Amino acid sequence: MDAHEIRNAYLDYQERLGHVRIDRAPLIPRGDGSTLFTGSGMQALLPYLLGEDHPDGTRLTDSQPCVRAQDIDDVGDNRHTTFFEMLGNWSLGDYFKAEQIPAFLSFLVDTVGLDPNRLYVTAFIGDEAAGIPRDDEAASIWQKAFAERGIEAGIVEMGSQADGDARGVQPGERIFFYDGSENWWSRGGSLQATPIGDPCGPDSEVFYDFGPEHHDPSYGAAHPASDSGQFMEIGNQVFMQYRRQEDGSFVELERRNVDFGGGLERIAAAAIHSPDVFRISLLRPIVEQIEQLSGESYEAHTLSMRIIADHLRGATFLAVDGVVPSNKEQGYVMRRLVRRAIREALILGISENFFAELVPTIADLYVDDYPEVRERRDEVVAVLVKEERSFRRTLKGGLKALAAYQGSTLTGADVFLLSDTHGFPRELSVEEAKRQGIEVDPAWEEEFLTALEEQRARSRGATKLGTAGLPHQETPAQQQAQAGQQRPAPGDQG
Ligand code: ATP
Ligand code: MG
Ligand code: MG
Ligand code: MG
Repeated sequence: MDAHEIRNAYLDYQERLGHVRIDRAPLIPRGDGSTLFTGSGMQALLPYLLGEDHPDGTRLTDSQPCVRAQDIDDVGDNRHTTFFEMLGNWSLGDYFKAEQIPAFLSFLVDTVGLDPNRLYVTAFIGDEAAGIPRDDEAASIWQKAFAERGIEAGIVEMGSQADGDARGVQPGERIFFYDGSENWWSRGGSLQATPIGDPCGPDSEVFYDFGPEHHDPSYGAAHPASDSGQFMEIGNQVFMQYRRQEDGSFVELERRNVDFGGGLERIAAAAIHSPDVFRISLLRPIVEQIEQLSGESYEAHTLSMRIIADHLRGATFLAVDGVVPSNKEQGYVMRRLVRRAIREALILGISENFFAELVPTIADLYVDDYPEVRERRDEVVAVLVKEERSFRRTLKGGLKALAAYQGSTLTGADVFLLSDTHGFPRELSVEEAKRQGIEVDPAWEEEFLTALEEQRARSRGATKLGTAGLPHQETPAQQQAQAGQQRPAPGDQG
């Protein structure tokens, strides 16, 4: 099954289980200023998970395009992209673990065709101080579901990620208990940080094992929650069953919810037994076209090609949802994605405009599944082509200006100048300097912000005198966007 087939099969399967298929949320959250982007399927459903009635009932499903700007520095590894699709199903006070766990296992094995012997799962170890028991309920449901497939699934207490790194997986083990920083969901991110009054609960993640040949021993011993490359997290089931009270203690909820989020690209990668998500049907054609345009191979330029493919796919979807490149908030993140992709392309020798060729390829991968991509295809291409042209005019000059710092230190004031005169997003200048071996002043960011503030003050003064102000109006959200730091998304399930 390719990614497109997996998405459709999942939604059909969930519909057969009584779920109503709901529309995806836009990438820019509606009426929610707390995050820049929709980063999970759960995010748009949060009010219903917190207790509101959903008009479509208690069983819902969708495939949600997500943007996680906070993952931008991970792009280049085998499994993180800033844009991805999250398959989701939800029980709002309806079914619970006993239905969710076997249903997901069955989807992976019976529908997608994954080998159950390659699936490893996690559950919450419990927290004595918080009065929360080990999630034996989830573990025994998993054990039974594996036993039905003739697999004896050993249970083991792993503890923290560091404990796992030291211990590793022993033969026969399949169900791993981790602590509250790995296997607990709350809007605060961990058990200790669960906000007062909020629902929360243990989660159970599913990992696909690509085999020890993909393990990088510099991460320690291999185990599911390690980032060592052998295991890839393909889905996460959150069981909201507690609420944190005023005094900090936890009580059982009467109305319990399930939130499931699964990475479409990662499930598709497991389906072709490729630890590299860029080999799947939704990404491979983009990479192939970059190979053609550059005359270079993916094997020799993996990092650059991954960055270009991911960033342009993300920018394309942002354009579909109406974002345009700008100096603020979502528009700034989009601009950063586009400009970073152009810079990487230059490294591959692509020095001419290429968006007009590549963006339609990306859009065409989605026209059958997202009608809005079909409708807005030409507009989207035009927006991105325009941004490419405008940046390319200053790119060479900017790189030349930057190269002049060879042998000296790049300061925040320099970074500001490069941004102001050459349109280099601040992070790009710093990345590029590091690439060229130019020293960067550790306090660059502070100085950059001061320079920006000074310019703003000047422009305010100018405005008072009746002259047009400069378009740099940073809000705190924008500053975070510029730092690539989205505020913690409520759906980032850890
Ligand atoms: P990871 O630990 O790999 O960063 P996560 O725990 O942050 O993933 P969740 O918040 O649990 O991810 O999201 C649910 C699912 O979405 C994950 O199990 C994974 O399959 C997928 N996913 C999360 N982040 C990404 C990403 N940056 N690119 C592709 N898929 C992702
Ligand atoms: Mg997770
Ligand atoms: Mg994780
Ligand atoms: Mg993550």
